[in-house]
Amino acid sequence: RQERYRELRDRPSVTKDGTPIHLMMNAGLLVDLPQLAEAGAQGIGLFRTELQFLVASTMPRMRDQERLYAAVLDAASEAPVTFRTLDVGGDKVVPYLGGFSEENPALGYRALRLALDRPGLMRTQLRALLKAAAGRELRVMFPMVTDMGEMRQARDLLSREIAHLTKFGHAMPTSVKIGAMIEVPALLYQLDELMRLVDFVSVGSNDLFQFFNAVDRGNSRVASRFDDLSPPFLLALKSIADAGARNGVGVTLCGEMAGRPLAAMALIGLGFRSISMAPPAIGPVKAMLLELDATDLSRRMEAWMADPERPLSLRQRLVDFAEAN
Ligand code: PEP
Ligand code: MG
Repeated sequence: RQERYRELRDRPSVTKDGTPIHLMMNAGLLVDLPQLAEAGAQGIGLFRTELQFLVASTMPRMRDQERLYAAVLDAASEAPVTFRTLDVGGDKVVPYLGGFSEENPALGYRALRLALDRPGLMRTQLRALLKAAAGRELRVMFPMVTDMGEMRQARDLLSREIAHLTKFGHAMPTSVKIGAMIEVPALLYQLDELMRLVDFVSVGSNDLFQFFNAVDRGNSRVASRFDDLSPPFLLALKSIADAGARNGVGVTLCGEMAGRPLAAMALIGLGFRSISMAPPAIGPVKAMLLELDATDLSRRMEAWMADPERPLSLRQRLVDFAEAN
């Protein structure tokens, strides 16, 4: 089977009916990088910058951050890399950033919320990213965005760093693309506003699912109770894909569901054209999509979701569809 996936590696990632799908990989450390070529990913859809902070016992200095980001871009050569700014807090505890004891850490002082309160931290990281990407494209996205005020603040911090570096004559990236992760359901009701402020979005379906259904993603007693192939969640995801198409904004999904072939198939049926996953999932997902009639699936899914008699989950229908193809 490994053999077969290796064979698929150099085949273009296009569905049977001719729709190109970007297959990207998730990474977080330099050791992940060789997998880009091995798995045949088209880029890094999610680089989790917090890993460098989580494995360190003291705050990584700006030049350590810059060195890592430059090495990642070097390793990716021409392939696009999307860096996510620090996503700590919640379950990702970084002792030297102050351990906070919170009753609901997932809903607490984390990610962008913490970063916007500590602009020194965020500006250091943004500066390291901008310097590392000198002469090439920089794609940076912010985690756990909840409202447009946060998005504007994050964008302003980035603009200030660009202005600062320009003023002091530093070499700059050829272009800077800014993105937001969609992980908080409140964003589902401000998609057009959000898309006016960003160049791309990426759905963090792990967190979005957790907050959408109010189930702790790490609590196995409840996490398996609801299905990510249930019509309400799929409708939410579809609204994001539709908003992206409507606004001309690139949409990726980088949560774990992207790496499960059946769920990846459903995502393509909903209109996703870019998904990012753990490297070992690329082969199986590619094998699936090469055999997929995306137009047919799309039409069927739309009908299934609109059916008042629809089942609680579309899983079985998707399995039947996959088997019939
Ligand atoms: C997500 O929430 O889906 C995501 C990709 O981010 P993380 O798993 O790092 O929270
Ligand atoms: Mg997340």
